[in-house]
Amino acid sequence: MNAQRLLQRFVCYAQVDTTAVPNAGRYPSSEGQFELGRILAAELRELRLADVEQDEHGIVWGTLPSNVAHKVDPFALCAHLDTSPETTGKNVKPQVWREYAGGDLTLPGDKSRVIRVADNPELTRCRGKTIVTTDGTTLLGADDKAGLAVIVEAIAYLVEHPEIEHGPVRLCFTCDEEIGHGVDHVDPKKLAAVCCYTLDGAGRDEIDVETFSADLAIVTVRGVNIHPSIGKGRMVNAVRGAAMFVERLPRDRLSPETTDGRDGFVHPYTIEGGVAETTVHVLLRDFDAARLRDQERLLRETAAAVERDLAGLAIEVQVTTQYRNMAEGMPKEPRAAAYAELAHQNLGRTPKLSIIRGGTDGSRLTEIGVPTPNLSTGEQNPHSPLEWCCLEDLAAAAEVLVELAKVWAQGGRPT
Ligand SMILES: [Zn+2]
Repeated sequence: MNAQRLLQRFVCYAQVDTTAVPNAGRYPSSEGQFELGRILAAELRELRLADVEQDEHGIVWGTLPSNVAHKVDPFALCAHLDTSPETTGKNVKPQVWREYAGGDLTLPGDKSRVIRVADNPELTRCRGKTIVTTDGTTLLGADDKAGLAVIVEAIAYLVEHPEIEHGPVRLCFTCDEEIGHGVDHVDPKKLAAVCCYTLDGAGRDEIDVETFSADLAIVTVRGVNIHPSIGKGRMVNAVRGAAMFVERLPRDRLSPETTDGRDGFVHPYTIEGGVAETTVHVLLRDFDAARLRDQERLLRETAAAVERDLAGLAIEVQVTTQYRNMAEGMPKEPRAAAYAELAHQNLGRTPKLSIIRGGTDGSRLTEIGVPTPNLSTGEQNPHSPLEWCCLEDLAAAAEVLVELAKVWAQGGRPT
């Protein structure tokens, strides 16, 4: 793998501000996503890929055509162009720490920001390697620009090594994943692959085969507003009703603060409004979609109890589906995860099948019929100014993709 070129690609992509903007009223939600998409489309054209296109939604497509005579089922590789709005992605100044000597990394743009070994045990295996961080004032955007760089470098490697046999590989770079709209404009027919892999996972050698199942509940509390001077016996305060509602949700269990592993949660995360009407947004999450119905029942029972205790108040609970656990759709294409495991094993590495307490573009893709496990890219501490990645981990992720292309061409026979 050409690690220096991989680094150049990553640093180039990281410097384009592609922060997703919630409720922007347009797609993609920021101009920078178009700009980065243009850079990527140009790079794919330079590699002489087929079907290269940046569509009207900003999504970048391309195909590495098969170089073998026999028929090989196409798989797709996917990464997202946008970065999280949780930390600014403007003026990202990637810092490259070559031959990392070990120890804590104090970020030069804001010395209060320190990447500590104590919080990042992964750093200990990166001594002598190349680390990339921010200067402390922005995020790095390795989520998911590491994924983009890994895919493009792996494809470049395959183009430069025609002796490596591979089938068709479809590429799809999506927009606005971080605000839940990564797959809004991805047509599975256009993707035209039996399965897909998102390159959007932290760390090294992990294959995520399960995500949460997710619903959103919007709880609308309606009261009666009137001037407080004449409120006696007439005012019904929706703020008070919403506070009672939130107070009665479980805290010692079923909350993000008290759960991990396979346990789900009910998470009230915004509250806004006034005396007449207050709205609470609540995330419902569990690996078992059936349990989301129990969570919904809990919200409805809590709402009914608050209505009983605060006369005149009306509470409406509206639940919409967000995404489903990708494990439900994986059996449709068992080769998706199996070949990813085999690719790691062929490289002498031990893959770890894991679960994500969240969703990926793959949750939605799997739901619409394209089983999509998620692979590690090398990123660490996503969405944070303390984000970092190790160049050797990025290269290791690109090696997996090259091996994966071989495995698909060989129909899964061990090499
Ligand atoms: Zn991501």
